[in-house]
Amino acid sequence: MSAQASPRETICVGDIGISYLPDGEAVVSAAALFPAGTTELWDAHRELFDADGKLVLSLGSFLIRTGDRKILVDLGFGDRTVAFPAADGEFRSGRLLTSLREEGLAPEDIDTVFYTHMHIDHVGWTAQDDALTFRNARHLAGEGEVEFWQSLGDHPLAAVGPDPNGVLTPLGGRVDTVADGAVIAPGVSIVATPGHTPGHCSLVVSSGKDRAMILGDVLHCPAQLTDNEVSLAFEVDAELGKQTRARIMGELEGDTNTVAAQCHLTGSAFGRVMRGRSRRTWTSLRSQGVS
Ligand SMILES: [Zn+2]
Repeated sequence: MSAQASPRETICVGDIGISYLPDGEAVVSAAALFPAGTTELWDAHRELFDADGKLVLSLGSFLIRTGDRKILVDLGFGDRTVAFPAADGEFRSGRLLTSLREEGLAPEDIDTVFYTHMHIDHVGWTAQDDALTFRNARHLAGEGEVEFWQSLGDHPLAAVGPDPNGVLTPLGGRVDTVADGAVIAPGVSIVATPGHTPGHCSLVVSSGKDRAMILGDVLHCPAQLTDNEVSLAFEVDAELGKQTRARIMGELEGDTNTVAAQCHLTGSAFGRVMRGRSRRTWTSLRSQGVS
């Protein structure tokens, strides 16, 4: 069966709700996006591809509801469909506000936006028509993330973030920095997971004995559990990214109290890292029959 972008779906972590809000999907060349991936690796993960042989990656955000707080984690790709020649593919998106409305919420209900990092597929809905989309929200990111992108100038990496379309301009620099370990809402804390970008962070959500980890782009697809050496072409520090991925996946492996969440997965944005006979594997919550 060909890969499908992850649907809108909610899990409960104790008293806290986490919903995946679809924005769209990217269809790309696996070889271009993950240069170290072998034919054997991709043959073992045919479930990640569409009928045309393109790798499918979901685009979307997570909504956390804790007490009366409503937090969006990342802001998708935005309302646009564009070719992505660097990976011989296309990004198609524009559904995030519809997904939010289906959750019974309007943009002004969001009190906090947290960027795991500032690549273009995570900041897309920051503004529309030169006005902030989530106008009542504080916008937060990890230490060093904003400064890194501001320092790039004409460096080729600047093409993937954060602001080739001026979408961050209406923020006027009002992104507040949060440190490793910071608690941004009841039961929601930040953990620094650098490598993909310098200020990249993940979130730990906990309530009672239940826990979830929103990974950001520590991991992009389950094939990276098969071979940790397979990194995205756009890692800022690929070696540090591999170390971070190995560390976090090691922590999650076999941890039955913790659900992992990732916005680019297909089938379901939620899953668990399982200890296989010779390697780690990803099991989506949907395939376990849990929703
Ligand atoms: Zn991403």
